[in-house]
Amino acid sequence: MNEQELLAFDREHLWHPYTSMIDPLPVYAVDSAAGVRLKLKDGRELIDGMSSWWCAVHGYNHPVLNQAIQDQSRKMSHVMFGGITHAPAVELGKLLVDMTPEPLQKVFLADSGSIAVEVALKMAIQYWYSQGVSEKNKFLTVRSGYHGDTFHAMSVCDPVTGMHQIFNGILPIHHFADQPRSRFDGDWDPSDLDSMREQLQAHHEAIAGIIIEPILQGAGGMWAYHPEYLRGLRALADEFNVLLIFDEIATGFGRTGKLFAMEHADVVPDILCLGKAITGGYMTLAATMTTEKVALTISSNSPHVFMHGPTFMGNPLACAVAVASLKLLQESDWEANVRRINAHFQATLPTLSSLPQVVDIRIIGAVGIVEMKAPVDMGEAQKLFVEKGVWIRPFGKNVYLMPPFVISDQDLGVLTDAFVGVVRKL
Ligand SMILES: *Cc1c(COP(=O)(O)O)cnc(C)c1O
Repeated sequence: MNEQELLAFDREHLWHPYTSMIDPLPVYAVDSAAGVRLKLKDGRELIDGMSSWWCAVHGYNHPVLNQAIQDQSRKMSHVMFGGITHAPAVELGKLLVDMTPEPLQKVFLADSGSIAVEVALKMAIQYWYSQGVSEKNKFLTVRSGYHGDTFHAMSVCDPVTGMHQIFNGILPIHHFADQPRSRFDGDWDPSDLDSMREQLQAHHEAIAGIIIEPILQGAGGMWAYHPEYLRGLRALADEFNVLLIFDEIATGFGRTGKLFAMEHADVVPDILCLGKAITGGYMTLAATMTTEKVALTISSNSPHVFMHGPTFMGNPLACAVAVASLKLLQESDWEANVRRINAHFQATLPTLSSLPQVVDIRIIGAVGIVEMKAPVDMGEAQKLFVEKGVWIRPFGKNVYLMPPFVISDQDLGVLTDAFVGVVRKL
């Protein structure tokens, strides 16, 4: 199939994320990808600034990850997880238990980030149900969050950007506190926690847990807040007897400069969601982890089991490549790479701060964010980026970079030059 035919069929038949079937924005046909480069079917090469939405931290077509998939596929690509176990799942579980804080001992393997969030919410509800407290079945979260696209995950996304009005009457109604406004790199204002405290005072008897993206809110607004907020949240959760759920699907595995963003605050949740970079961007896989206390409470009382079990749970191919990816991360000096990318962003992005169209610049770990005054014309911006040889996809008012950790200084220079050049024209 030539490029024209491919694009024509795609436009007519394939739904892309959040797109119209009448007037979709143009898509670019990628033929292959290697290192930090996407190779288009028309021969052009683009330096990747997105890591395929937080995932491809080691870059594309990595020999070690390729090998892991090939080796596993020769043994078995999939077997059911009901009544069966296998080395890839066990090795992955061991790595996750070792890498995360000590209290998180129990692992539920899920097939995508949204499902890991669904599982986390179900765990929290079942934790209270098991103790005979069936009225604790609502959740509390902050505005501008993003937790996925399935129904319950969507119900704890920001009510405005998450389009709750479309599914009004179907989405469960949860409670929303104000977004913390103290900046990650600024001073801490204790009044940031007031709204959360008010919500808890009013509704704690009906609340199973608080769910939040620690330190860095992703797709809901790319906002980085002060670590002290998480410490306050842990204390509030304990005071009001609700579980604390951290969604580290985007932030996990090094992106914010710590292996997990919660380490900036030294706080441990009762339930943790992981995904995205877990397989280095090779396959869809996620995990929900919890404490002995939550797991044993659920298992001690009727129905004595946790009520979830997807068909592709613990998929051996996905687990094998996750094991290889996490070992690669541990063996690599990812911290130095993230610091290097951070320093490069610090040296280049702030030059944009004087532009009238720029509202704010935020840099955390290997993430660089420029918030614009008005929503960006995504199609136009992408065209300009592609012309400059880079892959960057703005969202809403935010134009941002989160390249693979392995990007060279030279490629990083090309990426930020293109970024700065295009933002000046937006
Ligand atoms: C991407 C994301 C999800 C959803 O993950 P999917 O794999 O897309 O279902 C949930 N929470 C956060 C914070 C995310 O960034």
